[in-house]
Amino acid sequence: MNGNLARELANLLSPEQVVTIGPELRAALQDGTGNRGIKGEAEALLLPADAEEVAEVMAWCYGHGVPLTVRGGGTGLAGGAVPDGGVVLSLERLARVRSIDPELWRMEVEAGVRTATVHRIALENGLMFPPDPGASEQSTIGGNIATNAGGPHAFRYGVTGAWVTGIEAVVPPGEVLSSGGPLRKNVAGLDLTDLMIGSEGTLGIVTSAWLRLVPAPEERGVVVGFYPDTASGCEAIGMIMGSGIQPTALEFLDRGALESSLGSFPSEAPEQAGFAVIAEADGSAGEVNQAVGDLEEAMAGGALQPPVRITDHVAIRNFWAWRDGVSIAVTAQRGGKISEDVVVPVESLAAAVDETVEIGRRHDLPACSWGHAGDGNLHSSFLVDLADDDQMKRGGAAAAEIFEMAIRLGGSISGEHGIGSLKTGHVEAALGPVAVRLQAEIKRVFDPKLLLNPGKKIPLP
Ligand SMILES: Cc1cc2nc3c(=O)[nH]c(=O)nc-3n(C[C@H](O)[C@H](O)[C@H](O)COP(=O)(O)OP(=O)(O)OC[C@H]3O[C@@H](n4cnc5c(N)ncnc54)[C@H](O)[C@@H]3O)c2cc1C
Repeated sequence: MNGNLARELANLLSPEQVVTIGPELRAALQDGTGNRGIKGEAEALLLPADAEEVAEVMAWCYGHGVPLTVRGGGTGLAGGAVPDGGVVLSLERLARVRSIDPELWRMEVEAGVRTATVHRIALENGLMFPPDPGASEQSTIGGNIATNAGGPHAFRYGVTGAWVTGIEAVVPPGEVLSSGGPLRKNVAGLDLTDLMIGSEGTLGIVTSAWLRLVPAPEERGVVVGFYPDTASGCEAIGMIMGSGIQPTALEFLDRGALESSLGSFPSEAPEQAGFAVIAEADGSAGEVNQAVGDLEEAMAGGALQPPVRITDHVAIRNFWAWRDGVSIAVTAQRGGKISEDVVVPVESLAAAVDETVEIGRRHDLPACSWGHAGDGNLHSSFLVDLADDDQMKRGGAAAAEIFEMAIRLGGSISGEHGIGSLKTGHVEAALGPVAVRLQAEIKRVFDPKLLLNPGKKIPLP
């Protein structure tokens, strides 16, 4: 960007809202894929403070033909917020809670509000915002909406989109769109709110959202079962689902994930476990007591020891902190990992878990998986030394086979993290030519100059 354009931007916002040099700009060139060595380039980081400033910046970019990459908390795992030239627009200053109506179970927040802040505010009002992607202290509501983020409790409560009733967004060439609102139902017109959800910053910039909340459950209870292998663990998952109990979360870890993380498991666990199943129930004290008992019964068959029961509030918090740390524990084995988030029909989970290890073996890389068993969503991971080019190359080839496996098993290439820049090459195989053509046409309707997050999500001919 030449000096004149930087000065124009500084006039549009204020000089301190236009960062053209230094660590803040450098940090904005990466997201959660930084540990895979993925880094972009941009000429400036812009820090608008409200929707009107976002609209002015977009109008300026449209007028000057400058690409614009939107950024929330930068925790994305698909390279979606990594810029490929132009400017990065951070939503971190749009961090106001516009309204909260506890008695009506809803709040309106700006896009830069952190996920954990929404959780805390809801809880202080006796309510719950269920979507719980990891890294919640850093990720933002805007980023969660843009990726339609999930998390462990999506099994019972659904992903982010299920909790968004309306959005305000800035769309090219710089107009503010209001879609939906504090409405629990709305079928007027095509559903632009739903179209924006999961669009990864390629159609518009979400500046605020109306969120639906529910009364927080009185109690929770977690049950963890350990099994000798994938087959017996997946049989227990089938027993839970077939028994009619509806857990809030239904998670798994395979042998490799357990080997990395079991050392810090906050309760007693067998040393040689080949598979773990985690189930959580919530409700009144009586409901939880009943559900936990039923889960223990359903999970006992084939287990290496009686399932572990966790009902104390602090112990449950510590347990989920351990679960959040699994990804880091796996990464620590070799310093890096290439990890995908494919999804398969739940009855194919065992095949996908075992084939992940087999693919790793073929590429001479340790492999493991863990994730959201009830949703058939697995984080298939290959452990790599980031400085070893050969390992990185083999890891990339193994990841491509994971996508092929997911499609073959009737699944999809992403259940959570989105397409970003990393998976665009696999979209056509996953969706087929008709869907790809329609998506490209929708992209052109919203963003005719193709300046919004170019190269991400939607493959363009
Ligand atoms: C340790 C860890 C655990 C994770 N666990 C989960 C999990 O359980 N489930 C899950 O789904 N994900 C998970 N993730 C991925 C990530 O946290 C989520 O995708 C999260 O929702 C991204 O939010 P963000 O604010 O960091 O977005 P960013 O990384 O900043 O951006 C993500 C994408 O959204 C776009 N975007 C951001 N803000 C906006 C906006 N306001 N308007 C339009 N587009 C926007 C960006 O351009 C980019 O394409 C995890 C990541 C980490 C590092």
